[in-house]
Amino acid sequence: MRSIDDFTRPLENISPMDDPLGLIVRDWAEKYVIPHRRKFDEDYVDHKFIEPAFDKLMGEMGMQRVLFPENMGGWGFGRSDHVGTSMYRIMEEVARADSGMAVAYGVVYWPLLMIAVEPHVNYELCKEFAPIFCDTEEARFAANAMTEPQGGSDIENMEILGGSTIQTTAVLDGDEWVINGHKLWPTNSGGVCNLFGVVCTTNPGSRDPDDFAFIFVPADTPGCTQGPPYQKAGMAADKNGDIWFENVRVPKSYRAHGPGLDAMYFKEMVSLGNMASTAFVGGVLLNVWERLYEFVSEETYKGQPLKEHDAVAGLLADIARDAEVVRIVGYQNARMMDRPDIYGARWSDEQVAKARLYKYWSADVGMETLGKAMNLMSVYGADRDWDIEKHWRDLKIVQLWLGGKQLGQAEVARWFWDLETV
Ligand SMILES: Cc1cc2nc3c(=O)[nH]c(=O)nc-3n(C[C@H](O)[C@H](O)[C@H](O)COP(=O)(O)OP(=O)(O)OC[C@H]3O[C@@H](n4cnc5c(N)ncnc54)[C@H](O)[C@@H]3O)c2cc1C
Repeated sequence: MRSIDDFTRPLENISPMDDPLGLIVRDWAEKYVIPHRRKFDEDYVDHKFIEPAFDKLMGEMGMQRVLFPENMGGWGFGRSDHVGTSMYRIMEEVARADSGMAVAYGVVYWPLLMIAVEPHVNYELCKEFAPIFCDTEEARFAANAMTEPQGGSDIENMEILGGSTIQTTAVLDGDEWVINGHKLWPTNSGGVCNLFGVVCTTNPGSRDPDDFAFIFVPADTPGCTQGPPYQKAGMAADKNGDIWFENVRVPKSYRAHGPGLDAMYFKEMVSLGNMASTAFVGGVLLNVWERLYEFVSEETYKGQPLKEHDAVAGLLADIARDAEVVRIVGYQNARMMDRPDIYGARWSDEQVAKARLYKYWSADVGMETLGKAMNLMSVYGADRDWDIEKHWRDLKIVQLWLGGKQLGQAEVARWFWDLETV
């Protein structure tokens, strides 16, 4: 009998840790997530069922520590040349169980990529923030506070808009930054965040990359408040809400790198965020394949298992094809992140455009696949007991974030077709 491990990975190219880590996370997902995930939707405020699973994975098993240097209690992944492929596998395994959990867990790394990954480790800030994540057995969350009420996509659209629409301001007053602004939607806001990475401008309206600032703000800093979580179509494990920064003061050293460099490495966050999103699609598709395998083997039509009918077999072939190709493409993207010496810097416009391409393509494929699976399952496709409708609601959200499909298309067209204005 086939299993999800029959879907192809580039075995000659992946981390030696791929299976050891992947199987540990799979075991966690089987015990702590899959048996409970149907209760997650109603748990979006309290996280009564969700929190114990996070505590286990991130706190007890230590998976929130991986990026930090070993001498600070971390696992040293920030200097691994397999950081992309290792992350890809972990994200895929978590998303197979629950892609909302995968994004909440993945975004713990997101702002930390700025300071904990070679070739731009900021050891002073790593030392400052490592205890939040490394000195505890409980889950701790970070957030990338980027999106604002007037728009998220324009802030990510660095090449054309250069940060000129950012309204959250950072003003240097002696040895402190004073931050004012309103963010919304960041993953791990909605009350759970411990550490924000805040996208700010030091000169509103400016397109100069020197004026783009990425500043860390511990969530308990006076003047920083989080609203309650929004209720979304799915992904209840990821809390999203409003954050207000009112005369929030942090030390000058909490800026990630400084003029020019913050803007440059922020683009790396965009490419890695898109790569992780492809992993979420890949993980969901593996679970869709598993659940559907059960369904089409058990259900019968004209006395034969559903899968033994020509029309059904054609659709099943397409679904397996799409899960297989998304996995190959996703791992290829992860490998590109691991080998900047061959593929260019992770913050290059090329890597950003290509990661966006894989993300929006895989999200489209994932949505089509879920539609086909639901058609095959008929009413059971909408039945919570089969989990397919959950993945359908969750995956739609993957399609919408990071500027949505349109920004993805704009950045891909710009790079491949040398556009100058879009
Ligand atoms: C579950 C979830 C998690 C999220 N996590 C985070 C997070 O961690 N941090 C964070 O800061 N935000 C986060 N977001 C917010 C998300 O990234 C933004 O909602 C998204 O980037 C779009 O921004 P917007 O909603 O402000 O839409 P807008 O930017 O206002 O865009 C509106 C529409 O215009 C389209 N558009 C934008 N630019 C162009 C263009 N150049 N050409 C053509 N069309 C364009 C967009 O695709 C969209 O359809 C999250 C959202 C969700 C749902």
